[in-house]
Amino acid sequence: MWAVAFPARPMCPDCRSLDVRWVATSGRATVWSFVVPHPRLLPRTASSPPYNVVVVALDQDATIRMVGNLVSTVDGPINEIDPATIEIGEPVQVVFAAVDDVALPRWVRAPGG
Ligand SMILES: [Zn+2]
Repeated sequence: MWAVAFPARPMCPDCRSLDVRWVATSGRATVWSFVVPHPRLLPRTASSPPYNVVVVALDQDATIRMVGNLVSTVDGPINEIDPATIEIGEPVQVVFAAVDDVALPRWVRAPGG
């Protein structure tokens, strides 16, 4: 049985198949939940609370959820969105920020949201 799973793993968690592959998605999702951390949690974000941390559900499969920050622009600061304006269910689109040597998925508001 073929299924989409995230995070990526070498074996299907349902049937133990090793026939796994990367699948492109639209990058569209909706805000499933979010929190607004106030304490200084990590050195990189120490100067920027309060900021949001969103959990989004992918449009392709709502059981696939990813964690990130809702921002206005791909390289914008994590505290640039007023947390009071975030709504559960609002449509978002993934963008990828270059952070050190990785492409960090972040989320921006999708048109029509
Ligand atoms: Zn399977």
